Amino acid sequence: MTDNHHWAELDKRVLWHPFTRMSGWLDSEPLIIDCAEGHYLIDTQGRRYLDGVSSLWVNLFGHRRPEIDDAIRQQLDRVAHSTLLGLGCTPAVALAARLVERTYDPLTRVFYSDNGSTAVEVALKMAYQYWQILGRRSKTRFLALEEAYHGDTLGSVSVGGIDLFHRIFHPLLFNVSRVPTPYWYRDGDGQDPEGCRDRCLAALQTTLESHADELAALIIEPLVQGAAGIIVQPEGYLREAVRLSRKHDVLVIFDEVAVGFGRTGTLFAGEQEGVAPDLLALAKGISGGYLPLAATLTTDAIFDAFRECPSELGTFFHGHSYTGNALACAAGLASLDLFDSTEILTRLPERTARLGRLLNEHVASLEHCGQIRQKGLMVGIELVQDRATRKPYAAEQLVGVKVCQRARDLGVMLRPLGPVIVLLPPLTLDDAELSLLVTVAAQAIRETTR
Ligand code: PMP
Repeated sequence: MTDNHHWAELDKRVLWHPFTRMSGWLDSEPLIIDCAEGHYLIDTQGRRYLDGVSSLWVNLFGHRRPEIDDAIRQQLDRVAHSTLLGLGCTPAVALAARLVERTYDPLTRVFYSDNGSTAVEVALKMAYQYWQILGRRSKTRFLALEEAYHGDTLGSVSVGGIDLFHRIFHPLLFNVSRVPTPYWYRDGDGQDPEGCRDRCLAALQTTLESHADELAALIIEPLVQGAAGIIVQPEGYLREAVRLSRKHDVLVIFDEVAVGFGRTGTLFAGEQEGVAPDLLALAKGISGGYLPLAATLTTDAIFDAFRECPSELGTFFHGHSYTGNALACAAGLASLDLFDSTEILTRLPERTARLGRLLNEHVASLEHCGQIRQKGLMVGIELVQDRATRKPYAAEQLVGVKVCQRARDLGVMLRPLGPVIVLLPPLTLDDAELSLLVTVAAQAIRETTR
């Protein structure tokens, strides 16, 4: 145990925290994590918190998982990092082979980077350069969903559509075509997911019909738009969106940074709709939540266009210093081994159902619970001022922040998206931990919204 005051003061003196209003932070007594055990984070005072959002949606199997710890230690005895520019490296090669095997059939090539935003940047630049190589010079635009979130670098912000985060940077961004988010709970659509789906698909079709010549790719978070508030797409939306894009010769990029690696109930989200992308962005869970690592996978068709290009356009001009880091790839291999050697994946439907029952039992009837959205182990609880009118809380009421603060006092670490309380636990919580997660969330909501 160490002195919390010392670390809190030092933090406040030297750190600038992401997505944080630092004026408020500097007035607070920050909680400082010192270590972890299984599904619990432990602060400098020895207090334990269930990691209810998987340390920002990255952790898959808990902390200090022996299999992953050992893999990293063993890799440390070989080499921590060497570049992939002009060299190969054994764990990077081995993990690429495993990713090709475990992701969608048409994906045969792996390009590494080190976070979700860069995985998306790579996908965008690859799609763009692909059409340039083919001589389809007008295909330079991207098509994205209205409330998309794809990361914080300028390319991924350009395809993002969350006003609060992205508005200020508008002058720096490239133009993107937009189609509506199939948000079927909103505006009285709650009873009619099919209607919402069909309207959104009709809008997509219209855009594709009139702009296919300019469009390089559609980028989409399959099944669940995470940062938008865990918005679950109506069944069939993704399948048809992919089909329409293909029909109009527009590439499809799946951003599975958040939904990949089991979160939605299958290893990859698109599996549930029987569709595959031309480019796939992976990060977060790829290393089990241990180390920064990302990958963009693509098809023979795209790879071969680059390979066969006789000019300098055949080189993909992109690469980061830590691309394909050996320690991170060793963690990634151990993480895939865990999926292969345990029942984690096959038990997900039962975990998902149990979580759903707990939410029904403890949260659904709360006075200010407007909507529970769940896909696999991803949950968004939308809080409303008034259930009848579904009037949302105003941003300045900070209701999500207050609920999560209360949950933390009760021993569960959560992080909201505005008025949406997110539950996104590791895949391996046991029954008691799942109950704790939901009952604490319910209590925090009840007490805060009273
Ligand atoms: N895409 C999606 C769908 C995400 O949810 C996120 C991060 N939450 C990103 C991209 C960006 O990932 P990173 O924070 O690792 O850059």
